[in-house]
Amino acid sequence: MEIYNSLSRKKETFEPLHEGRAGIYVCGPTVYGDPHLGHARSAITFDILARYFRHKGYKVRYVRNITDVGHLENDADAGEDKIAKKARLEALEPMEVAQYYTNRYHDCMRLLNVLPPSIEPHASGHIIEQIEMVKKIIAHGFAYETNGSVYFDVEKYNHTHAYGKLSGRILDDMQTSARDLDGQRDKRHPADFALWKKAAPEHIMRWASPWSDGFPGWHLECSAMSTKYLGEQFDIHGGGLDLIFPHHECEIAQSVAAQGCEAARYWMHNNMITLNGQKMGKSLGNFITLDEMFAGSHNLLAQAYSPMTVRFFMLQAHYRSPLDFSNEALQAAEKGMKRLFEAIQTLHKITPAGGGEDPTVEGFIQKTYAALDDDLNTPIAVAHLFDAVRFVNAVNDGKDTLTATGKAKLQQLFDGVLTDTLGIASEQQQTGNTAILHGLMNMTLEARNLAKANKDWAASDKIRQQLSDLGITVKDTKDGTVWSLE
Ligand code: ZN
Repeated sequence: MEIYNSLSRKKETFEPLHEGRAGIYVCGPTVYGDPHLGHARSAITFDILARYFRHKGYKVRYVRNITDVGHLENDADAGEDKIAKKARLEALEPMEVAQYYTNRYHDCMRLLNVLPPSIEPHASGHIIEQIEMVKKIIAHGFAYETNGSVYFDVEKYNHTHAYGKLSGRILDDMQTSARDLDGQRDKRHPADFALWKKAAPEHIMRWASPWSDGFPGWHLECSAMSTKYLGEQFDIHGGGLDLIFPHHECEIAQSVAAQGCEAARYWMHNNMITLNGQKMGKSLGNFITLDEMFAGSHNLLAQAYSPMTVRFFMLQAHYRSPLDFSNEALQAAEKGMKRLFEAIQTLHKITPAGGGEDPTVEGFIQKTYAALDDDLNTPIAVAHLFDAVRFVNAVNDGKDTLTATGKAKLQQLFDGVLTDTLGIASEQQQTGNTAILHGLMNMTLEARNLAKANKDWAASDKIRQQLSDLGITVKDTKDGTVWSLE
């Protein structure tokens, strides 16, 4: 499979560090506001990557973090922590804010059929690892302390390593663009960035460190957590295009300074979302949250769009291209998705003609997978699925024929690509699964009640344990047995 590496600025054949395994780290959300379309695009892009690797037989460890500390208001080293600010305004504990928006994010991701990551580390839960990393960077001579804060010495690092290699920026140009903000006078060079910040007296989120009571710089968490869970070197680091500078550039510098080598081997970045051709932004009044999208409750939306429509729509642009949201395009996606599902139903009913391979179907399979293998070219893959739809309809109309093997393989193509890889489930599939789950749970709990009535405690405990292993909690209350998914 070829993937575009933002570091080399070209497509490269993906070769995992460990045979048959893929380690992926993706920068997750900063949890201080409602999840929006930008969150969805990044999550869906890397969900498809992880799904496709699994579909190809890789064992995938997918780490996506939650930034719940240290992300300052102006994305620089000064200003108020965004989560702490929200907490202050709403009279909440900062962790209450972070938890609330983490839950909201999870709810939206579930609706969009984005699978949960293998590990979801929180920045606030990895302060020790971050402090250890700062110590290493200081010990290697690439950081210095001023007034209780620790800064990365970009100029010194740049003498021996190329700072700016990912973003293509040149250090000399950064001097003029750096703003004169609070904390700048503590730095030796305007481009230096904070590894640790001493907390002002009113700052709520703070931890003890060798330098001061304070908090880690934003870029540090991803360096510390990615290497903790994926090793000093790992395969893929992903995130939105807006994170290339300074976030990812700083991550590279931190890893090299701390451990002597770069951590991520391939950098992948998804492009941004525009709305009717305009950049999306809160100040521009065209900032649409996912809840508004699903409810159709924003004045720019002509109707509500289901999470699957939003997901399917996103696949119709390559992840490296900007994606423009408009009602027309979303409505077209909704219609297209419906046609796909109708064709899958039609395919079930088709009586095949004869046996043997079906060259037309082989062609669809070959082209669809070739598109996915070409840097996850989902729009081309979807276009080939639509070719298959036209073929199915032609067969149904008696204008073409399909062999039994061809029919089975075509069904496999829809299952393997549309359902498993692209993560598009029909509403029937989604609600059908829920109905099946409830039916099975009723049967299982009935069996457990029968065991209890027969005083067969071993059997009833075993059922409870097996359900627990599946992530289903069973509770016996005075009103009967209730169950919930973890
Ligand atoms: Zn990050």
